[in-house]
Parts: sequence; C-alpha cells; structure tokens
Amino acid sequence: MSKVYDVIILGGGPAGLTAGLYAGRSRLSTLIIEKGQDGGQIAITDEIENYPGQIVEGESGPSLIARMTEQAKKFGAERCSDVIKSVELEGDVKKLVGAKGEYQGKCVIIATGAFPKPIGCENEGKFTGKGISFCATCDAAFFEDFEVYVVGGGDSAVEEAMYLTKFARKVTIIHRRDELRAAKSIQEKAFANPKIAFMWDSVVTKVDGDELLSSMTVKNVKTGELTVVEADEDDGLFGLFGFIGYNPNSKLFEGMLDMENGYIKTDDNMHTNIPGVFAAGDIRVKSLRQVVTAAADGAIAAMQAEHYVSNH
Ligand code: NAP
Repeated sequence: MSKVYDVIILGGGPAGLTAGLYAGRSRLSTLIIEKGQDGGQIAITDEIENYPGQIVEGESGPSLIARMTEQAKKFGAERCSDVIKSVELEGDVKKLVGAKGEYQGKCVIIATGAFPKPIGCENEGKFTGKGISFCATCDAAFFEDFEVYVVGGGDSAVEEAMYLTKFARKVTIIHRRDELRAAKSIQEKAFANPKIAFMWDSVVTKVDGDELLSSMTVKNVKTGELTVVEADEDDGLFGLFGFIGYNPNSKLFEGMLDMENGYIKTDDNMHTNIPGVFAAGDIRVKSLRQVVTAAADGAIAAMQAEHYVSNH
C-alpha cells in the first residue's frame, strides 16, 4: 500500500509550485507530480517582466521557475516525475495511476495548465521564444517599434493584435480565411486601427533566421502562391504571435469534473464539483492566464486543501 499524502499536486508550473510551497509550509505531506520539466508555459518564456518583484535584467522564465521549485522543496514538498494515465477522484482517498506507480492523496490540486496550439509551421520549435510567442501580455514590450505578425482570426488574435499595436510599429494579422471569426465589435476596432494590416487566405508554412526569427514563408491557400516575408534590414528580426486557440490539459478529468470548453470550473476558492479536488492556474475557467494569477490560485487551493484535510 503506497503512502497516502495529505495533498497531491498535479503539475509543476507556477500554480502547482506555489500550491506546493503553501501546502508544505502548512505542514501537509505534499507530493508534486510533473510529467516533464517544471515551469509549464513559462519554461519557454525568455524573459519575465510582469511578475511582481521580477526586475532582474534579463531574468528568464526557467530561472524564476527554478527558484519556485527550490522554495517548494525548502518547505518539504516532494517532487516526482511521472505521467498520470488515470485518476479516481471520488471518496476520501484519491488515486492517481501513473506510468511509474500509483499515488494516493486525501486531496488533489489539479494544476495541469493549458497550452497554446502551435502555429504548425516548419522550424516552429527552433524559434519559439526567439521571435515566436504565444503571449502578447508577456512579450509585446520586446517588439517596441518592430514589425509583428499575428496568426489567427478569432477574438484572441484580433484583441491581442490591437494590444500589440501599442508597442509594434505595424501588426499584420495572417488569417487562413478571408473573413475574421472574431466578434463584429472587435473586428470594427481592428479595421479602424491604422497600424493593423491583414494577409487573408494565408498560412505560415516555414520560419527561419539565424539566432532570431527574421524570415517566414506564407502560403496563399486559395492560389498556392508562396511569399517570403523578410525582416526589415534595419530591424533584423520580427515577431510572430500565434493565437489559434488553446488546448487545456484536462482530458484525464473528462466526465468527472464540471468543465467549460475543456477548462475546469471552480468557485472562487478553487473547489471543483468533487470534494477534496481543487483546480488552480490556467486549467481553470478564468479571465486572465498569467504567472501572477496562477500563483494566487495555487496559494488559495493549498490553503483550502489544508482546511479540507483538517476537517476530514
Ligand atoms: P478561436 O475562437 O477558436 O479562434 C481560433 C482562430 O484561429 C480562428 O480564426 C481559426 O480560423 C484560427 N485557426 C485555428 N486553427 C488554425 C490553424 N491551424 N492555422 C491557422 N489558423 C487557425 O480561439 P480564440 O480566439 O483563442 O478564442 C477562444 C474562445 O475564447 C472563443 O470562444 C472566444 O470567443 C473567447 N474569447 C473571447 C474574448 C472576448 O470576448 N473579449 C477574447 C478572447 C477569447 P477559422 O476562423 O478559419 O476557424
């Protein structure tokens, strides 16, 4: 029979690690299970400049995460690498079955995150964080006075394109059709914005550059014509933002937890519809997916877990 932890945290991003820190500090026996490297989305973010107190020049996502991991460990949270394949969440002891073993906890905090859908072009991985971004709030400031391209035609793409015009000198929306999916009211604002241009019926097929993104191939899906877009010579680089939807990491919990578009519904205290099961961070239905809101969710979830364990 394996050990029954007070709390098992699934996911080692900012929400999971903060939950680990707070749970460990509350003297709960705590296990954080992460399938890959800690950090989630910020592990691929070159610089973090909007997390409060994060003002060290050139501070990267991985270094912030390394400190969060260290802090959770300092307060006694155990960390294990495994891929969870199935879960049993009902009852007083929750069971998580992974590739390497079975884990039991009195409560579970789900912090598995949501991941932007990749643009789907050649060399994308090589230039992610080096010109390609999936977060305008995080990275827009790095493109002050540069040219920026946005892939997508939904509310996110168009709203984020408008946000990017506060920084970039020109923003071109590349959309695979000849009309936007975004709400009409959002479209109207974008069409009225002189800094926004459009490439219709187009998809990015390849990105390139030396260290940083400086060229891409765009295909017209109607004519098949290929256009190579090069960075302005004086700039030497441009930005490419992908907003073609997100994939919440919630498949494991389908049919068990209440969800909206794959995101887990919670109350303000991170409770899901199952007692002793909490959700924190990007996996939740929420309005702002950022490190600071994930960390806040993690802290709340851990304190609620502490109340739950004390009362059971
Ligand atoms: P979305 O509505 O699913 O739109 C995704 C966009 O990306 C669509 O225009 C789609 O093109 C395009 N796309 C999808 N896959 C693609 C691919 N492989 N290559 C190129 N383009 C691709 O996603 P979202 O904009 O992230 O919005 C998600 C949800 O949040 C929506 O319900 C949206 O209304 C909501 N939201 C609301 C607000 C707001 O109300 N202010 C803001 C942001 C998001 P097609 O149009 O051709 O399918």
